[in-house]
Amino acid sequence: MTKRFDKFKDVMAEIRRSGAAIYKNPAGTDDLVVLSPYSINYIHSYAQDSKFFTGLAEGKLYGSECKKCGQRYGTPRGHCMECGSETRWFELPLKGKVHSWTTCYFGSEEFMKETPFNLVLVEFPGVNTLFLSRLVGAEQKDIFIGMDVKAEFRKKPRYLVSDVVFRPAK
Ligand SMILES: [Zn+2]
Repeated sequence: MTKRFDKFKDVMAEIRRSGAAIYKNPAGTDDLVVLSPYSINYIHSYAQDSKFFTGLAEGKLYGSECKKCGQRYGTPRGHCMECGSETRWFELPLKGKVHSWTTCYFGSEEFMKETPFNLVLVEFPGVNTLFLSRLVGAEQKDIFIGMDVKAEFRKKPRYLVSDVVFRPAK
């Protein structure tokens, strides 16, 4: 017998337990809710951003520098936001400072089990934009703006931006 609930959180709990539940909809219907596993393989090209991701696997961070005006971006960027010209790659330093930070208590499905975690915007000397990353190895109370941080790379790359995290430099 499928169990009936009038609160959706109870429906969700029952679905996780048994795979199905009935939601007593306030509109007056009994809605059967089921769990249907769903998975896809998403094959895509990083195209012009590829060097950034292969760089992560080699323990390097690549930013983009405008060939015309010299604006330096802390992330992959094919063209300059200031003047529209093409950029070239340059190697970012592996040490920077915390420009700003936040603690995440909620996240996408992949990261939910890791909450709470800390995100930082890292600033590099001589670079005009920031790099968003995870900060590991520091308690929330010990994080501050201006904190020295260093990049740390995943040993077995997944070719995701999460292949790099930052941790306190000292
Ligand atoms: Zn430019």
